[in-house]
Amino acid sequence: MNNLYIETRDPLFGIIVFFALIFVITFFSYWWGRYKARDDTKYLDRFVKDLNTVPSDDAMKKIIYEGNIPSQSWLILAQSYIQQGDYEKAVEIYQSTLEVEKDTRQQQHTAILLGQAYFKAGFLERSKEVFLKILKHAPRTPRALYALLLVYDRLKAYPKALEVLEPLQELNETITNEKRYLECAYLLQRHDVTPEEKNHKLLNIYTQSGSLCYMIFDHLFRADSALAWQHLNHSDYTRISDILWQLPAEKYSMAHIDSDAYLRELFTAKGSLDLTHSSPVFELDILIKLYHSNNTGATLQFEYLCQKCKHAFPFSFHRCPNCYDIDTIMPQMLLTKDTFEENYAF
Ligand SMILES: [Zn+2]
Repeated sequence: MNNLYIETRDPLFGIIVFFALIFVITFFSYWWGRYKARDDTKYLDRFVKDLNTVPSDDAMKKIIYEGNIPSQSWLILAQSYIQQGDYEKAVEIYQSTLEVEKDTRQQQHTAILLGQAYFKAGFLERSKEVFLKILKHAPRTPRALYALLLVYDRLKAYPKALEVLEPLQELNETITNEKRYLECAYLLQRHDVTPEEKNHKLLNIYTQSGSLCYMIFDHLFRADSALAWQHLNHSDYTRISDILWQLPAEKYSMAHIDSDAYLRELFTAKGSLDLTHSSPVFELDILIKLYHSNNTGATLQFEYLCQKCKHAFPFSFHRCPNCYDIDTIMPQMLLTKDTFEENYAF
């Protein structure tokens, strides 16, 4: 038993104490490192959360009411919320700012922004109420009048939109294009006009102004394709290339197609006629080559470019959803895989 007992002065005792100390220090360092890492992670999480957390509605209202931050700063913040698509937050800021704003002109400016935020969020009735309220106190406000016109247009309340043009005209605003567009839209909507009269009036708008080609021929090719072919200008074929591409074969006018190089290329590329072997339009040329090599694995799709703001949309429009200008649409060809052929070929 005495052999197993180690004296405190024994060198072996010192070595054991030394290793025990190393073990304790290593363990403590490891534990401290883990603790610090967990603490740092918690801090970073809190920091990121704080960055992403916006003040609650009540807190934000309280800050706005205190008036320590200029209203312009709040409007910039609201604008950034709109750009992120958070219209609800923007509306809250505009409403609270309106309640504390004393300057009448600034109040009007903020109220217009509030109406526009409602419009962008799709709350058209609320948007309308805001603009009507502004115009009740300041009827000669072109910005509010134009904004109200857009609301009525989106609501398809064309007679109301046409009424808004009157005060705009009195304010010497240029309303020619808006008037023509709204009259055309209203005409298309009306059920108390015979189809023949409707077509005749639409053609009158087109031949007299040379505008609204897409809107008018979108209707005419469905209603009376012979009349449409008869009056459509050659120079406008590219402006309605998607409408022509989707035209069923029974609505083709061979007299018009045979006499125009672009139409010969378009319908050969579609594979419904065989009238040419090439095209200066890249997409059509590829499809014509594929058609002549009996390869039907590709087709055309269209996207729609606004010629004014250069935004492209996957759907057609009469008024640009981005810049709200009218008659700016231009179909763009996109060469795509013909999935219909793949799915339905046997
Ligand atoms: Zn646009």
